[in-house]
Amino acid sequence: IQTIILKQRPVGKPTLSDFEFIKEDTDLNIEKGEILLEATYISVDPYLRGRMSDAKSYVAPFELGKPITSGVIAKVIASKNDKFTEGDFVSGMMDWKTQQISKGEGLLKVDKDRAPLSAYLGILGMTGLTAYCGLTQIGKPKAGETLVVSGAAGAVGSVVGQIGKILGLYVVGIAGTDEKVEMLTSKFGFDHAINYNTTDDMKAALRTACPDGVDVYFDNVGGTISDAVLYNINKFARMVICGAISVYNNTEAPKSVSVQPFLVKNSALMQGFIVSNYMDKFPEAMKHLSGWLAEGKLTYSETVVEGFANTTQAFLDLFDGKNKGKMIVKA
Ligand code: NDP
Repeated sequence: IQTIILKQRPVGKPTLSDFEFIKEDTDLNIEKGEILLEATYISVDPYLRGRMSDAKSYVAPFELGKPITSGVIAKVIASKNDKFTEGDFVSGMMDWKTQQISKGEGLLKVDKDRAPLSAYLGILGMTGLTAYCGLTQIGKPKAGETLVVSGAAGAVGSVVGQIGKILGLYVVGIAGTDEKVEMLTSKFGFDHAINYNTTDDMKAALRTACPDGVDVYFDNVGGTISDAVLYNINKFARMVICGAISVYNNTEAPKSVSVQPFLVKNSALMQGFIVSNYMDKFPEAMKHLSGWLAEGKLTYSETVVEGFANTTQAFLDLFDGKNKGKMIVKA
């Protein structure tokens, strides 16, 4: 059995030495009510960075010396629980372990004949729900409006932009490489995309890309990219604050523009959220996401890293933009 634990709290950008890889030669024996799980796919996500710090947040920090946990798809390899049968696949929050015992609480069975298993960590999982709920509940998009998405080629961003197109918006994406920018227009149907790494003046680039101004901004990155968007917002704009990956590893307070004058001048709304705020909308979201997927209106990308031992590196690579779409480890 292999386990990845948090050895020390990262300072700035996490490194491999913040984690420890442990190998044990033990067999796990289950008791009545328990199941034995083998990890199939592990989700690595930017939000895990927050849990590695001990600052107060919406979820408790990871404990030092204990396994990291994230969304995992696992196979039931033995069961003494009536609700689960050997061979079932389940999705839920699990430890970064190749095998583990569970009582089945909080686990959902997933159907590998309905969608590829990894999709339940992305478009049919937490990231798809985040995209749908954030955009519809806070962004309140209307056909004909302009939507800007940062982190657009990532797991959440690529779904947000496509939903924007389905709902009849003009959609502009921001991402970090030419390849990603190309993918946004060719594969995901964005109207326009900007590479923030090769654009000197983001404010001007956005002005050109959004001739009618920005009505909805779905923000995954924060920092200077979002500052540039602020200069282009329209009256009654809605800014959906989903994440701020560009500042997650900061050791000093970022120097951002003051948002208040922009909000006042434009009667604009800026609202942060966590996906679990919208649990009551999950059935509606899943119905749309799986329906659009089946109709071919929605597509997705995955970067699948092979091997449990590479889980930590896959997590670190999120901060270097190595992923296109959802970053997933095949254990
Ligand atoms: P992504 O798939 O978008 O992966 C992260 C991407 O962020 C990278 O590929 C990279 O793309 C980009 N990035 C990394 N560093 C920077 C930087 N310094 N500046 C700008 N972009 C950067 O991850 P997710 O889709 O899983 O998550 C996206 C955001 O949504 C995160 O901020 C995450 O924390 C948040 N989130 C929030 C949830 C909520 O409930 N509020 C739930 C899930 C996610 P590039 O090459 O373009 O730089």
